Amino acid sequence: MTLFPEIIEAYCSQSITKRGIENGIITVNTYNPRDFSKDKHKKVDDTPYGGGEGMVLACQPIFDCYNSIEKIDKKEDFEFIMLSPQGEKYNQEIACKLAQKKQIVFLCGHYEGFDERIRIGLKPREISIGDYVLTGGELACLVLIDSISRNIKNYLGHDESAHNDSFSEGLKGLLEYPHYTKPREYMNMLVPEVLLSGNHKEIEEFRKQESLKRTKARRPDLLN
Ligand code: SAM
Repeated sequence: MTLFPEIIEAYCSQSITKRGIENGIITVNTYNPRDFSKDKHKKVDDTPYGGGEGMVLACQPIFDCYNSIEKIDKKEDFEFIMLSPQGEKYNQEIACKLAQKKQIVFLCGHYEGFDERIRIGLKPREISIGDYVLTGGELACLVLIDSISRNIKNYLGHDESAHNDSFSEGLKGLLEYPHYTKPREYMNMLVPEVLLSGNHKEIEEFRKQESLKRTKARRPDLLN
């Protein structure tokens, strides 16, 4: 649900997301609350009661838009998410869990945010992508669409498995080890000898150690 569907559609028509949609692994539909506004000028926002700056997204277009979406009945298969800087902080674990859902409805805010009764009445799960404020929820929504989709079976090809990405189960939640590709030498910088050895056990051990080293240096909090 977004006032700017073109932002979502532009991203989803490129790269791996495009392929995921074409292969029928995911489906992305956009719904614009403006299309549901009963105001004769199709207004979706208004000034805040009590005064103050900015405009607030009003209840009617959001409630009617939400109710127009045909939702999967089973509660465990469905999630309704409001993108909000005040929500729980997003991470890979949440992405993996959300990848199990059959359907997710995302609500993107704009302006000063939402009339509080949208939270009270529709009871969304609020998710934040970090402690900073964006102009609208669309970028945050795309971050979720992208990172959730990567954890859906068959979304990535064999060569692109998410299993060994940073934060993944395959790496026990650590940061990924460094990668190298051809040539063996570039501006006097060499590829570590062990990676050229063909000894899979040693390579695995090397990567495990590099992953640990990197996590210790950059994100010691993950080791806990
Ligand atoms: N006045 C609100 C506040 O201080 O909490 C911020 C509103 S922000 C300008 C407009 C919209 O952008 C929000 O309703 C939300 O949908 C989205 N947004 C902004 N920052 C976000 C974040 N860190 N994570 C997720 N969504 C965010």
